[in-house]
Amino acid sequence: MTYETIIGLEVHAQLLTASKIFCSCSTKFGASPNGNSCPVCLALPGVLPVLNKKVVEYAIRAGLATGCTIAKKSVFARKNYFYPDLPKGYQISQYELPICIGGKIDIAVNGEKKTIGLTRIHLEEDAGKLLHEHPTTRSKGASWVDLNRAGVPLIEIVSEPDLRSAEEAVAYLKTLRAILIYLEICDGNMEEGSLRCDANVSIRPVGEKKFGTRVEIKNMNSFRHIENAIHHEVRRQEEVLKEGGRVIQETRLWDSEKEITISMRSKEEANDYRYFPDPDLLPLLIDDSWINAVHQNLPELPEAKKARFMSQHQLSEIDAETLTSSKSLADYYEACVKIYGDAKKISNWILTELLRELNNSGEPIEQCKVKPDGLSGLLQLIDQGKISGKMAKAVFLDMVKTGESAKDLVAKQGLSQVSDASTLEPIIDKIIIANPNEAERYRQGNEKLIAFFVGQVMKETQGKGNPALVNEILKRKLKP
Ligand code: ADP
Ligand code: MG
Ligand code: ZN
Repeated sequence: MTYETIIGLEVHAQLLTASKIFCSCSTKFGASPNGNSCPVCLALPGVLPVLNKKVVEYAIRAGLATGCTIAKKSVFARKNYFYPDLPKGYQISQYELPICIGGKIDIAVNGEKKTIGLTRIHLEEDAGKLLHEHPTTRSKGASWVDLNRAGVPLIEIVSEPDLRSAEEAVAYLKTLRAILIYLEICDGNMEEGSLRCDANVSIRPVGEKKFGTRVEIKNMNSFRHIENAIHHEVRRQEEVLKEGGRVIQETRLWDSEKEITISMRSKEEANDYRYFPDPDLLPLLIDDSWINAVHQNLPELPEAKKARFMSQHQLSEIDAETLTSSKSLADYYEACVKIYGDAKKISNWILTELLRELNNSGEPIEQCKVKPDGLSGLLQLIDQGKISGKMAKAVFLDMVKTGESAKDLVAKQGLSQVSDASTLEPIIDKIIIANPNEAERYRQGNEKLIAFFVGQVMKETQGKGNPALVNEILKRKLKP
């Protein structure tokens, strides 16, 4: 029996507002524990939530960028449960009437395009964080509550069960992350928890129309974890079915060290949470003029940027797609084009040399020591004949390591290409005189010998002779 995998993702994205969703506390990461908290965060008696307008604007942005319908009226609801990181005893979320409905995200896997439907995007507040014992900073036998994250604004983006493999799930998440970063509403930092993803996974026999029972996997904070966790969970479910068992609907945790999913709890149902409209908050009403204003201020999105790079810079679709896959890479590329001019050459260097180095180091482009002016400066040295293309590649590696300019490195290492004829001519004369037989055979028509002479000149100049000029002088001097 072969099975088909069905995946739907629930993605929580932290919005980049300066203050929290229902109070004026800062959202800044890294403050001292409870440094960003107030009576609202602590749920002291008598406090009331006040909605942050910017949060709503950011959610509208996300909805418009993904083709959602923005609800004219949405409602905040209380999702009730107990946990020590949730002082109110409920999380303010949206349930029956979310702010964004429908929508879609286009993904590509191995060159194949596919559209993934969105069910909804809703607004909610984050919970706090529990800290447990720590070898140096926290003693044993106690836990600490840090409410800095309580009330931090989130959007939850729920996909339809349209994904069919771990690879598609990762492609979806990467595309979604890029869109949120382009929109400047989320920093996309998965390690710090600004973008978190739960994967709902089920399998069914190929050809079967009905979905199988789903398992929800939590606790994955990198693309690699998500891909591994889904692969393992699919294999686990296949084993269960092959042995004649049934998949149980439950929530499982991904253990990235052991590479297994572990059962955490049986799946709660929506009615377990006793959702009801929050009486402290009025329904959220959004009129057309607000939606239109947000629409007009949407930044250029990956698809549009890609199309522009193709038409304005004559880039191939695949090159334009790679360059726009992240906003910072696209910004880097555009800054280079502005300084240097030749888009094709710049894109070639970025797509081969630069991306290879970033891949090797695992560094994001923001941390790369070679800035757009640095890369442009290197290409200018090639154009001026100061270094060959081959030398430039070696210089580039040094630039990545040291952050020094191409010009300085070339000067320091004495790499400058010999590009003046008056230096090259005596060397070439000497070589022709030292190799009379080869010179004679060349003159009689064995033109392949030019390579031999170029090789000799390069040896003599330690590879620094400008190849084009060396060729030209040799041909002139060897003319019969
Ligand atoms: P809950 O909050 O209880 O997890 P939601 O309806 O908010 O429920 O989210 C359900 C998620 O699970 C959606 O992303 C949906 O696409 C996905 N999903 C629903 N049924 C299945 C299934 N049989 N297999 C895989 N994913 C599913
Ligand atoms: Mg869920
Ligand atoms: Zn607060």
